[in-house]
Amino acid sequence: MSASSFVAAAQSSLDYIVSYYKRLTSISPLSQVKPGYLRPLLPASAPESPEPWSTIQSDIERLIEPGLTHWQSPNFMAFFPASSTYPGMLGELYSAAFTAPAFNWQCSPVVTELETVMMDWMCKLFGLSEDFLSEGEGGGVIQGSASEAVVTCIVAAREKALLQHTAGLSGEAKDQKRAEVMAKLVALGSEQAHSSVAKGALIAGVRHRSIHARTEDHFALTHDSVSTALQQCQNEGLIPFFLSLTLGTTNTCAIDDFVGLSPLLAPLQHELWTHVDAAYAGAALILPKYQHLSAHISTFARSIDVNMHKWLLTNFDASCLFVRRRRDLTDALSITPAYLRNHASDAGLVTDYRDWQIPLGRRFRALKIWFVVRTYGAQGLRDHIQRHCDMGEQFGTWIRARHDLFSVVAGPSFALNVFTIKPPTTNRHQSDTIHSTEIAEGGVTAAAAPSSSSSESPLADGVAASKPSSSAVRAAAAAAAEVSSLE
Ligand code: PLP
Repeated sequence: MSASSFVAAAQSSLDYIVSYYKRLTSISPLSQVKPGYLRPLLPASAPESPEPWSTIQSDIERLIEPGLTHWQSPNFMAFFPASSTYPGMLGELYSAAFTAPAFNWQCSPVVTELETVMMDWMCKLFGLSEDFLSEGEGGGVIQGSASEAVVTCIVAAREKALLQHTAGLSGEAKDQKRAEVMAKLVALGSEQAHSSVAKGALIAGVRHRSIHARTEDHFALTHDSVSTALQQCQNEGLIPFFLSLTLGTTNTCAIDDFVGLSPLLAPLQHELWTHVDAAYAGAALILPKYQHLSAHISTFARSIDVNMHKWLLTNFDASCLFVRRRRDLTDALSITPAYLRNHASDAGLVTDYRDWQIPLGRRFRALKIWFVVRTYGAQGLRDHIQRHCDMGEQFGTWIRARHDLFSVVAGPSFALNVFTIKPPTTNRHQSDTIHSTEIAEGGVTAAAAPSSSSSESPLADGVAASKPSSSAVRAAAAAAAEVSSLE
């Protein structure tokens, strides 16, 4: 593709994207295709001859769009928000243009340096203590996902624990002790924690235990539940080395009791790595009214992760992992063969993010964060989060007012309400509930503020432009109607 063809193709692609966003409100958020719809529509083998862009682009509307679930639709209420904004898209475009698998500083210095500054900006915006800033011993790194962040931390915590337990040993004695300790290491998480914690433990080859989160504690882990779990592990001769807490659980947006847990966990920092998974609700830490949570988290956490790609207007992927001591990561993950050596790294002058993550190569993700934060400003981001929380409150009021239709399970918590739809007949089982966009057997319905809260998405006229919408309650009412029609 020549430069002039690229300009023409890019222009028509942009026109398509803008018109797609304009049409979004009138498209059903759920794709209507059946499994396997695509294969019969595509040639069985790759084309032998080049095809013009116009042909390729026409297939976007014909073949791709029908198979999309429109997460950016203001009527999309499932799962959690997945931000998309024009500045985020532009960041992706530039990142693609400058493509480099920038695994160390030397590979493309600005990729590292902008990331370090952006993570410090975000650390300050989230109100975390300066322990997590790059100027001290800490720092932030952009991971692809919260799942990647948690497995990275479990591996670092495992290596830290193994090092502590094998101190002073070498050779065969060290190997034997390592194997012995490995068999006893336990990663703990709430039974309400995201599945990525159990998966992280699986990948790291350590035991995993869930801690019961009681309904009467609003599904949060407490001082009592965690200290009981720790004691139980010790009674069994196990070594609890990692604990994942959650700010905003996936099921109900529960918040573990950081205030109550702080006196228990702060003194254990060196033997028990506490990670805070704030994948969704961490975005709300940019509001000063939630920063008492940041202050408590900062007293004990060794790591905290927030997905900007969920609720902070940044296109997937942008998961911000902050650590109290970056050497915990680099000690565990740094392996330097000759082909990765260079003067800047050897002299300790630079950060090499390859040692803070599992993959080697990495994308230029800091650009989109830079574009987003500058385009909306910190205040614009705060307004965006506050508006979604207000919508959550408003929606909570509406569903509470309709107790003939809905039973509230939890919330509003940040922008999330969790409720069941009451059965239309008295003999219907309570657990036959429906998701606002999906029939879910035995599930509950959760309605978060949509990814893009305005029909002028992606937030075209600034984040403060859209009004609270009743689309969520309409979706819920429609879901209730659908339950009736299923009778
Ligand atoms: N943690 C929580 C609390 C989540 O809600 C989710 C996603 O739903 C995740 C982790 C996983 O996020 P990711 O897709 O970035 O791995």
